[in-house]
Amino acid sequence: MLIVPEAAIADLMTREAAFDAVEKVFAAMATGDAYNFPVIREAIGHEDALYGFKGGFDRTGHSLGLKAGGYWPNNLDKHGIINHQSTVFLFDPDTGRVRAMVGGNLLTALRTAAASSVSIRHLARPDAKVIGMIGAGHQAAFQLRAALAQRDFAKIIGWNLHPEMLPNLQKVADEAGLPFEAVELDGLREADVLISITSSFAPILQADQVSPGAHIACMGTDTKGKQEVDAALLARATVFTDEVAQSISIGEAQHAVAKELITEHDITQIGEVINKTHPGRTSAEEITLFDGTGVGLQDLAVAASVVDLAVARGVAQEVDF
Ligand code: NAD
Repeated sequence: MLIVPEAAIADLMTREAAFDAVEKVFAAMATGDAYNFPVIREAIGHEDALYGFKGGFDRTGHSLGLKAGGYWPNNLDKHGIINHQSTVFLFDPDTGRVRAMVGGNLLTALRTAAASSVSIRHLARPDAKVIGMIGAGHQAAFQLRAALAQRDFAKIIGWNLHPEMLPNLQKVADEAGLPFEAVELDGLREADVLISITSSFAPILQADQVSPGAHIACMGTDTKGKQEVDAALLARATVFTDEVAQSISIGEAQHAVAKELITEHDITQIGEVINKTHPGRTSAEEITLFDGTGVGLQDLAVAASVVDLAVARGVAQEVDF
């Protein structure tokens, strides 16, 4: 069995490799060559922790396995380690033998950022110049860095419920040499591309706070009850997702579907756009919305990619198992 520890991931994995892995697996999901297993998520009644498994099988990429992990809210205060903890296990689909154990913490941020980037590459207007962020936490910086590679952006704008976190976005803007402006929610109308990545349980962005032609990647809503944008925005937009089943149950679309503003048949898997079986954006005025719920296959795809990189560089640890 190969081991790629958490500490080795930063030097091995690149944003480009994460993008390629996620784009490929989204494409395989749309052809039915890859599918996700039902998600398990449990409050274990210890340390207020939420623990679970996300798994799947990708026949094309030959990836079988799961990500095990969750959220331990007391970690930082009690142990000085981050609250989100996860590990990916890959198995040989020909024999069922375990193939690799891979640190999943940094990979989760990279695969989530890759998902919104894939949506921007395939759905945003080619001439997009202003990118707007809703959220300024841990994931937001990863999201913004990855998104900046997708278009020739000239300006970053952002809003966050907790303004003291906005320097996280300013830092990424400084790295990229782009101006950053903190705005009110109405100011987000200037954005050609928007990413929302918060822990909100109530709509932040209203349908009239988005301009025609914008692309929005809603990335924070990954649980029943969470919500970042007004349900009416999904009725106004053409809606895409990583996986329809998750979009309508734990994603942003859960609210619009519950209010009967849209049905699951109005939602297209992004893989269809990648595979060119769906045209994606069809006009410069159309609003496109990507509901990124986060699927297990994304975790397996980036983990398999990092194992390949670790083997190629001779840094994968091999144990007899
Ligand atoms: P974080 O704790 O670092 O940041 C949380 C962000 O949400 C901050 O910007 C904070 O100001 C904002 N926020 C908190 N409570 C809010 C509220 N009530 N209303 C509006 N904004 C609020 O968290 P993070 O690691 O950046 O994760 C952000 C979100 O992304 C979480 O909801 C997480 O579950 C989700 N997530 C989704 C995926 C996916 O694949 N879709 C993957 C990882 C994380």
